[in-house]
Formats: sequence, C-alpha cells, structure tokens
Amino acid sequence: MAHNTGLTHWLLRHAKLVLGLIALVGLLGVWFSWLLWQLLSSKEHQVVAEQQRSAATLLVERVQEDLEEQLRSFARFGRRIESLEQFDTHSWQHESHVQLEDFSSWHVLVLIDRQYRLRHVFTRAGDLPLEQAHYQQVLRRFSGLAEQAREQRRDAMTPPHLTRHNRLGQGHLVPLYDPQGAFIGWLYGGFFVGELMARALIPMIEQGYVIRLQQGEQVIFDNDPERRLGNSQGVATHSPLYLRDTRYDIWLEPSEALVSAGFTDWPQWVLLASLLNTALLMLALFYNYRRLQAEQAVRQSKLLVQELLALTGQAADALLVMKPEGRQVLYASPRLLELTGHANEAAIQRLLKERPSALTPEPERWQADFTPGKTHEFRAQLAHTNGSLRTVDVSARGVLFHRERFVLYSCRDASQRMAVEQALKEQSLLDGLTGLHNRRAFDQAIARAIDGLQAGAPCTLVMLDVDYFKRFNDSLGHQAGDDCLRELGQLLSDNTRRDSEQAFRYGGEEFALLLEGDSNAAGKAAEHIRLALQQRAITHPQSPLGEVTISLGLAEGLAQQSAEAWLKAADQALYQAKQQGRNCVVKADA
Ligand code: GH3
Ligand code: MG
Ligand code: MG
Repeated sequence: MAHNTGLTHWLLRHAKLVLGLIALVGLLGVWFSWLLWQLLSSKEHQVVAEQQRSAATLLVERVQEDLEEQLRSFARFGRRIESLEQFDTHSWQHESHVQLEDFSSWHVLVLIDRQYRLRHVFTRAGDLPLEQAHYQQVLRRFSGLAEQAREQRRDAMTPPHLTRHNRLGQGHLVPLYDPQGAFIGWLYGGFFVGELMARALIPMIEQGYVIRLQQGEQVIFDNDPERRLGNSQGVATHSPLYLRDTRYDIWLEPSEALVSAGFTDWPQWVLLASLLNTALLMLALFYNYRRLQAEQAVRQSKLLVQELLALTGQAADALLVMKPEGRQVLYASPRLLELTGHANEAAIQRLLKERPSALTPEPERWQADFTPGKTHEFRAQLAHTNGSLRTVDVSARGVLFHRERFVLYSCRDASQRMAVEQALKEQSLLDGLTGLHNRRAFDQAIARAIDGLQAGAPCTLVMLDVDYFKRFNDSLGHQAGDDCLRELGQLLSDNTRRDSEQAFRYGGEEFALLLEGDSNAAGKAAEHIRLALQQRAITHPQSPLGEVTISLGLAEGLAQQSAEAWLKAADQALYQAKQQGRNCVVKADA
C-alpha cells in the first residue's frame, strides 16, 4: 500500500475525481440494489401469481366436478323410475323431497308423460297450480329438446332462461324408459343457476377469493361488486365453467390478504443487505483513500525532514538526533561521521549502545535529564577511529515532536574556540605596556614557585623599582616615562627566561623577578641587570646620577612561607636599597 506505484500516484493527484468515482460506485451500488430488489420482487410476484392461478384452476375444476355430480345424481334418479304409475301424489312429494335434500338450488321436479302432460310436480316455490301452468309452458317450449333427448336416449340441458321468479334458471331433461326399454316420459328438474353456482363457490369465497360469475354479458353472481377486478397485483384468473353445453365465465381474484400471504420479506432484506453492502464498500473505499492521502502526507513530510537534515548536514555543527529510550539514533549528520571517522549512522548507533565512552570520556553527560525544552551545554572529548581525541562543545536539548521525545545533540569542534580562549587567557596575564607578564600572572607564578619550594626547587624573588621616576615623568613627560618603562621591560625580558615566566610588571614603575636558584645566584643576576641598565645610560635630567637607575631587593623563598611574607621580605630589601642611596641590590636578611 505504501509503495508509490503509478496507480497510487495517479489516485493521489486526482483527489476530486477519485471522490467522485467513489460516489459513483455508491450510486451504482444503490442502483444495483434497487435492480436486484425489483428482480426478486417480480420473480416472487410471478411465483405468487402462478400459485394463485393454479389454486384457482383447481378450485374451478372442483366446482365443475361438483356440478357434474349433481347432474349425474339427478340422471340416476331418472333411471330408477320404471313407470309413471309408480308414484301417487304423496310418494312423489316424499321421493322428490329426499332427492333434492342435498341440492338446495333445485327448486322443481316434474314428471311428464309422452304427451307432455304433467303427471306430478314437486316445487319448493309454493303455489302448485301456478307452477303447474308455468312448467306446462316451459316444457312445450323445450319440446324439441325433449324429443331429441328421447331419440338419443340421453339427458339434455335446456339453455338458460328466466324463470317465473325472474331468476336465471336451467332445466335438466332425463328421458325415462320402462324395464323393457320402452319410452314412458321425461323427468324434468329445474334449478336457479346463481344459487347452484354460489353454493359450489362458497368454499372459494371463504378462502378469500373475489368471484364474479357471468353468463355472456349477464352477471349472475359477484361477491364484491364494489371492487374492480384486475387490480390486485395482476394475479386475477379467468376460467370458463361448463354446464354441459352452456358456458359460464368465472373471474377469480385472490384478496389482498391472500396475495400478501404469498409474499415473503426476502426481497426487502436483500435490498437492505445490498444497500448496507454498498455503504460499507463506500466507507472502505473512502477510508482507504484517506489513509493513502495521510500516508502520502507523512511521506512528503519525511522527505522534507530528510532534505532539511541533509541541509543541516552541510553545517559546521555535527548533529545527532536520538530517541532517549534505548538510545536509538535517528540521524547522524555527515559532519559527525567526519569528526568521529565512522562510515555511517549504524556505526554511531552501535557505538552509542555498546561503547558510549568512545563518543565521550564522560558518557553519563550525554544521558542527562532531557525534559523537553531543557538544554545542556558541555565540553566533551570525541574519539576518532584513528585514535585521536577531539574536544567538542556539545549542546544537547530535549524536544517534544509529534508527542514523542527526542534529543538533539549538536556538537562543534572546539579547537578554534579553545585557541581563542587560550589567547584571551594569555592576554589577560600580560602587561599591555611592556609585554611582560602582569600582576595576575605574578600571583599565579608565586603560588607555583611556593609549590616548587616545597618540592625542593630553590627560587628567589627580586623586587625592582625605578629610581626618581616621578621626577623623570615630570621633567621629560609621561610619554617618555612610558618609553623608558618599555625599554626596561625589554631589558628584563632579555635577561630572564621568558618561557618560565620570570619577569613581571608588578605595578607602576615596579617590577618583580622570580629567579630559579638561591639568593647568591639571584644576586648575581640582579646585579647584572642593574649594570645592563646603567650601560644603556638613559638620560635622567633630575636624577643625582644623571641616568635612569633601578634599586633591587631580593629574598630567597623559604619552605612553609606564604606569598605575602615572601613579598614583604623582598619589599623590605628594596626599601633598604632605596635607603642606601638607590641604584643598588640588597639581599633580605636570611
Ligand atoms: P623613588 O626613587 O623613591 O622610587 O622615587 P619615585 O619618584 O620613583 O617614587 P614614587 O613612587 O613617588 O613615584 C613613582 C612614579 O612613577 C609616579 C608615577 O608618575 C610614575 N609612574 C608610575 N607608573 C607609570 C607609567 O606607567 N608611566 C609613566 N610614565 N609613569 C609612571
Ligand atoms: Mg615606586
Ligand atoms: Mg621609584
């Protein structure tokens, strides 16, 4: 993922396009989910419609069967009649009643002789004489049909007609024969079509179907006339129903409840799952793209940091970036490698972990308390792989960066600075006018000389003062005084060993010498200096001697003696020299 392949590069460069594409994927996902839902719903709809259709067909077949059975049962009754004299009025009424007990829609049974005279009439519809007169007419009307049935020896059905009760009825004609096969008359049964059908259709209505029955254009039965057929999600069926040659039409439509019972929740669940899937996909794409962007940002800032570090590597200061935990080196600048002679960062890392003393003789100083913001500055010795040591000035600072602690060491070769410091230090010990060491240097030197005395190295202190120098200044001017002091300084310098710091300007026109050896050797050297000055013959207009002279007092150093006591002894000797008339050397009393 982190590899900056061509594709990721392209993706990162076209952020808007990519986000657009992710949105498009989302839209496609939603569209696909919707399509899937449609597909599943319509498939399920098809299945439900198919189920409903086959259920309806089965029901219609059963109704048809039931009607047929009624007709067959009626025909069987006809075949059991052997003669018209078989019944008196009473037995006819009884037999008819039994016969029609199960067939409530049959309303009349008539026994007719071959001359179409009514022999017996059974009717459920009340007034017998009226019924008789009516069926006399009906039978005359269907005499053609009756003759045909007789000739063909099979029962026949009249076409639908309006009955006396203004209802659609049909009649069933069964030709009757005696046991010898001779024709004797007809049995006629009349029924109301609507009632007959309704009775057969009741189980379907109870199951929740809306049913409409038609004969041609005439609606015979409709259990829900308010409702328009064909509306319930297209699962209505139409089936023909035949009563012998007469065709009826049945429209069946399952109720809403029946239809919806056939449907499942699956398409909705699938839709929901698919939408969820799409949302998850989008989220994953979006999240991954964001991560890619973040990684890119980190990569870029890393590059920037590396470039920055490479730039700092050019600096004179050597840089070491480290995590204090486990002393893990993150960066060692080229200058540090140069100062230590190591080839790479890994070598520095090894060194810091295994032999921190190679980086500095005081490794503990590299591991001070690096509370962020705190800086330590110290001088350390950096070992080079060639064995040499180099003094460096280290500045170590704890920093907090992106909530992590780091330590930044910068170190700089201290040799130049040390040289400057050394020069300054030396300058601070020199006298500006004469170039000799000054009073401060003298204080240090006398302390060292006392150490030397204790170690058994004899040393003599000479205090030296220019005679009548105030007058010299007064008569020749301060500048001439300065020139004179400079010349005397040079003379002292020439007559002592400069490397062992023996001549000092003690103050004003007063000088001090720390000479190796006892007071005898020092006395000779002092005398030599006095004479050397005299030989210079620097004119002093107001001196009784006419030239610049010096008085010298010397005191040999004693073990266990303080610097003050030693100085005092030499001073007293100098004072005596002045007292004795100047331009002479006086030794302090031993
Ligand atoms: P004595 O023989 O007793 O030492 O007499 P003196 O005049 O030398 O003694 P004093 O200590 O009274 O005078 C010292 C003079 O030295 C005073 C001052 O003018 C002069 N002096 C001290 N330092 C300097 C200096 O740096 N340059 C010049 N030109 N004169 C100095
Ligand atoms: Mg003086
Ligand atoms: Mg003097």
